[in-house]
Amino acid sequence: MAGSEIESLIRQLSKLPGLGPRSARRIALALIKRRETLLDPLVQTLSAAAQAVKVCSTCGNFDSTDPCTICADPRRDEAAICVVEDVADLWALERTGAFRGRYHVTGGLLSAIDGIGPNDLKLDRLTSRATNGRVKEVILALSATVDGQTTAHYIAERLQSVGVSVSGLAQGMPIGAELDYMDDGTISAALKARRPV
Ligand SMILES: [Zn+2]
Repeated sequence: MAGSEIESLIRQLSKLPGLGPRSARRIALALIKRRETLLDPLVQTLSAAAQAVKVCSTCGNFDSTDPCTICADPRRDEAAICVVEDVADLWALERTGAFRGRYHVTGGLLSAIDGIGPNDLKLDRLTSRATNGRVKEVILALSATVDGQTTAHYIAERLQSVGVSVSGLAQGMPIGAELDYMDDGTISAALKARRPV
């Protein structure tokens, strides 16, 4: 149908989340047609992002600095850590502006079916952060799914001996809900009405 570079462009684009082959072809064509306004700037942006973006070694957030902007910000409350599964959830909470503490990104949930155990989630790092003497509360903002709740209970149990209070998101979290898909008002309400785990 087209030259191998175009085919490979379409193939790469179709691997992106939310895009199938049809939208990948449309995007590829738009990029090629609008080389100066779309394709060239995108190439530069992708290359800059690939070079600059790092994982924060403290919380697991993505940023161009390590520690990330949130971990390095002295105005953020050191006493509260909000545990989320994914950076998308961190972004969802940041959009609400309702949380002024720091985060911990687990990068996944405990899952017997998928064979994901505690060591895969770097929970040791969370425990050591929680024991630094400055942290008073750990808020578990994990999905209201079976794996999310299993993970929340595991973390709560692990932090029991540490002497920090552990809470979870409350009302407004529908069963099976994933944070990233919830509206800002619901997330804020669930955060405000958090309850001990
Ligand atoms: Zn960080």
